[in-house]
Amino acid sequence: MSTWQDKIRQVVPYVPGEQPQIKDIIKLNTNECPYPPSPQVKKAIAEYDESQLRKYPSFACRELKAALRKTYPVTDDMLFLGNGSDEVLALCFLTFFNSDKPVLFPDITYSFYDVWCDLYNIKYKTVPVNDKFEIVPQDYFGENGGIVIANPNAPTSICMPLESIEEILRHNRDVIVIVDEAYIDFGGVSAVSLLDRYDNLAVVQTFSKSRALAGIRVGYAMAGKPLIDALEAVKNSFNSYTLNSLSQAAAAAAANDTKYWQECCGKIKATRTRLIGELSALGFDTLPSSANFIFTTNKDINAAELFEYLRSKGVIVRYFNKPRISGYLRISIGTDAETDRLVQEIKAFLGK
Ligand code: PMP
Repeated sequence: MSTWQDKIRQVVPYVPGEQPQIKDIIKLNTNECPYPPSPQVKKAIAEYDESQLRKYPSFACRELKAALRKTYPVTDDMLFLGNGSDEVLALCFLTFFNSDKPVLFPDITYSFYDVWCDLYNIKYKTVPVNDKFEIVPQDYFGENGGIVIANPNAPTSICMPLESIEEILRHNRDVIVIVDEAYIDFGGVSAVSLLDRYDNLAVVQTFSKSRALAGIRVGYAMAGKPLIDALEAVKNSFNSYTLNSLSQAAAAAAANDTKYWQECCGKIKATRTRLIGELSALGFDTLPSSANFIFTTNKDINAAELFEYLRSKGVIVRYFNKPRISGYLRISIGTDAETDRLVQEIKAFLGK
């Protein structure tokens, strides 16, 4: 006999890193920025007129788009804003991937991509990264129903040069290529400069990492007008007001303060270089990172055990018990003081 239970959609969701509400932990597991957002954000929130909250937010997002235009060579109709880049990416998958052929993405990458494919019944095929964990452009030249590449990739932290992204685009003129640039500001070169030559490109970025606003949930896609129009139509068939007005004001303030943003990225890059050096002296091999996290391994130790040990000491990093990467830890770059504590705890684990 059929029951209501049979009619419920069953999905296996994406599982983000934990957000423990314990004081004094060192949280290096979800690639948040260790520094606060720009002081201009505080000011924008303080000056926000709460009487505006009675109204629906503007879906034109003019102020925020104007702020983004200061940094990126795009027009308003080339910008699509959403509630975190996760939502923007989810809508991109729904809008752009409608083919009998499989969508391609690397076997080691952001683990939300297969969740969205399963959610929307999009066929997909994962393409193995090489033994240095690099994405090989030629592997994306065959027939497919679309491509999504995280650049820098996560959790490997490795960035592809712009020429490789362009090679993939050149061989895939008849499908949409999404480049997920959540971590681009920490050392990569954005594909945004390719937008005027490739009408099949969508570049997705976020305020959650380099602009220290994960809590405010703002992400955006940059693409040609036809792609943005298609995204808007799908979004407006789902929820017209994905981005609340307070988030818009805060994100605009952050985007306008390019100096603070660049300083933050500079500090994170310097700490990353120091951490990689200190770990190397302790026998760790770290993949070349262009992100605000590193992916590191040490052949003499068990990564799961080190993860548990650090956790017991209040230092939370990320461990993925998955094929090919179960020997690695992904560690977000913290402040200098947090990095000192991390290294001290790793030394204690190693008995050094
Ligand atoms: N893409 C990648 C590769 C990520 O690691 C993340 C963060 N988990 C996101 C997108 C989504 O970030 P957000 O929704 O906070 O913009």
